Amino acid sequence: MRTLLKNAHIVTAVDNYIADILIDGETIAAIGKLSIEESTIDKVIDIQGNLVTPGGIDPHVHLEMPFMGTFSSDSYETGTRAALYGGTTTLIDFVLQTQGKSLQHALDDWNTRAKDNTLCDYSFHMAVTDYNNETKKEIQHFIENEGITSFKTFMAYKGALMIDDRQMIGLMQEVKKHGGLINVHATNGDMIDYLIAKHKAEGKLAPLYHYLSQPEVTEAEASARFADLANYTGCPGYIVHLTCEGALNAVRNATKRNQKVFVETCIQYLILDASLYEQNFEGAKWVMSPPLREKKDQATLWAGINQGLVQVVATDHCPFMWEQKLMGKDDFSKIPNGHPAIENRMELLFSEGVQKGKITLNKFVEVSSTNAAKIFGMYPKKGTIAVGSDADLVIWNENENHTISATTHHMNVDYSGYEGWECKGKIKQVFLRGSLVIDNNLCTINKGFGQFIKRNKVKNFI
Ligand SMILES: [Zn+2]
Repeated sequence: MRTLLKNAHIVTAVDNYIADILIDGETIAAIGKLSIEESTIDKVIDIQGNLVTPGGIDPHVHLEMPFMGTFSSDSYETGTRAALYGGTTTLIDFVLQTQGKSLQHALDDWNTRAKDNTLCDYSFHMAVTDYNNETKKEIQHFIENEGITSFKTFMAYKGALMIDDRQMIGLMQEVKKHGGLINVHATNGDMIDYLIAKHKAEGKLAPLYHYLSQPEVTEAEASARFADLANYTGCPGYIVHLTCEGALNAVRNATKRNQKVFVETCIQYLILDASLYEQNFEGAKWVMSPPLREKKDQATLWAGINQGLVQVVATDHCPFMWEQKLMGKDDFSKIPNGHPAIENRMELLFSEGVQKGKITLNKFVEVSSTNAAKIFGMYPKKGTIAVGSDADLVIWNENENHTISATTHHMNVDYSGYEGWECKGKIKQVFLRGSLVIDNNLCTINKGFGQFIKRNKVKNFI
């Protein structure tokens, strides 16, 4: 199948120009002012006036994640379909090791849910929750044979997911040795545990106390400690869902000793704030960890993007139905953590970032796609528009307005964290590996189309 996109306004992390794009099979075969005999082309689409950006990459999602006897409400099918509607063509989910069991056991478990059920392309991070001599032996195999080169650690969720600093250092040394990277949930688990227990003992049980149990210092302290451990071991490090000024300053301080720590924030931390927790139980819609922060933190994060300190804008997509959220009706610590955003990330970032003059178009592409591809070993197959790259393309009408609503979104969740939000700029068509998969609000493929992406070893710079 050969498709010619004529008069495309192409934007990558570095370029901005008008040209034709020839797609041959799954990849981009030529870009330029192309004069090709049209009889050799199966489909010609003139997209004059439309922007074309690389397919979005969301490296932080949780689909069908087991939690408290239930699962996050998007399956691999519904979540990856919603991702495509929102211009995300590749995502990275997290496999969670069960303490006492092997990494392979967890991967097998996740594969039973994901395999043959995804629509977009995908990969996994391996979350190590129990680092011991047996786990250590599996690291090299995952990096070299499975193409899983990033290992997630939790400095919080004591007794379930958290590892201590001794395990962290051991894991970092092993991961560095074989060319991988550590992603970290950097908050101080002991402090948070203490504050949750304190608030509960005082009868403070509303969602607001979820927020007040995770003050900025819990994240700033852990981010600084993680940076110190990464610096000591020399292991590439990536802080997931960084939310606040104190934590970003920890990373900024690390640069003064010539260290590089990668930083991801999520769309919600750029545009929502903690005032949402002040409305009784409604605030449960935004109960996530870390919680939403203050306006001054939003300003820090936008600045951090433009300073190159924040490289990636993800979602931490982890939806729960309202009924599931009600598990914590009388106790904020029982509210399932997470909110839906996989479908909204690209359009919200475009609307709030590019259209409101906070970031350039090139920066938008960098933080929504290119940097994630580079950091996680998928570039230039993914993350750019170039000859030889996968033809993962998003076609935009930058002037079309639309309103986000649970009544029209495709995520399997019965509320939206952005209900009524006006977006300027609409995704009209999406190509994944050369196939037109979203065409004006219609998804044209079925589950099983998505491919697992084996990733390359990573470096400490991009
Ligand atoms: Zn997460």
